[in-house]
Amino acid sequence: MRRLSLWLICSLLVIAAPPVEARAKLNVVASFSILGDFVRNVGGDRVNVTTLVGPNGDVHVYTPAPEDAKRIADARLVVINGLGLEGWLPRLVQASGGKASVVTATKGIAPRNLGSEIDPHAWQSVLNAKVYVSNIGKALEAADPADAEIFRANERRYEEKLDELDREVRAAVEQIPPQRRKVISTHDAFGYFAAEYGIVFIAPLGVSTDAEPSARDIAAIVGQIRAARVPAVFFENITDPRLVRQIASETGVKIGGPLYSDSLSPEKGDAPTYIDMVRHNIKALTSALAD
Ligand SMILES: [Zn+2]
Repeated sequence: MRRLSLWLICSLLVIAAPPVEARAKLNVVASFSILGDFVRNVGGDRVNVTTLVGPNGDVHVYTPAPEDAKRIADARLVVINGLGLEGWLPRLVQASGGKASVVTATKGIAPRNLGSEIDPHAWQSVLNAKVYVSNIGKALEAADPADAEIFRANERRYEEKLDELDREVRAAVEQIPPQRRKVISTHDAFGYFAAEYGIVFIAPLGVSTDAEPSARDIAAIVGQIRAARVPAVFFENITDPRLVRQIASETGVKIGGPLYSDSLSPEKGDAPTYIDMVRHNIKALTSALAD
């Protein structure tokens, strides 16, 4: 009898707690590749992540594909940057007719303004990336409480890596002589990086890539490069390189990069993850700006 009740209890325990693999994974859509990487790091093998704007894509000017509405309809969570980055997304979420919750990963980050525009590129500060990860972790836990322990452990491990990355960036910037800590990039994507780590970025394009610079914009940048003795101009992975080449040829400064601004590289490229991206960028900056 005793043996039988023990058997019963064990059987009940097995029924009450199905093995992790048996439970369905959480479907999550991320608006662009950097967010997709954050979700993968926190969700691990308990989530299926789909990224709408893929490697080297430009999230500012994305035109949704017909299958994107279906992806959102099938998702429990849609993770977005917010701060005005994904202007095309609300209509897509509405058109999908799904019941996904929209999670704004920048919640709690003080936005930086550029004139009347909000700068959406908050992920370029590694400390902000930790806020993104914490928001994503909370959303995953709320959507799938059975896996909350797993998400919390993944989040802790990843945040430790981000802390180490933040220290690496500071140490790398220390290696650059203070008077050489200034660069030209194509669009104004590094304001949060600049504010956190003390490198000055000047860009012919504003915080979005949706407009071409005028001849007057370019002339102004050329003047700034000469006056401030900026040592290098940088390509970005998401923008047309011709503008940077033109500025370099008019000023004679060297070309560095590419800098990964708004998008990761494909799997086999230089920056398939956020951590790889930041490491690649600091290497590009230090090698072009060192004496
Ligand atoms: Zn951008």
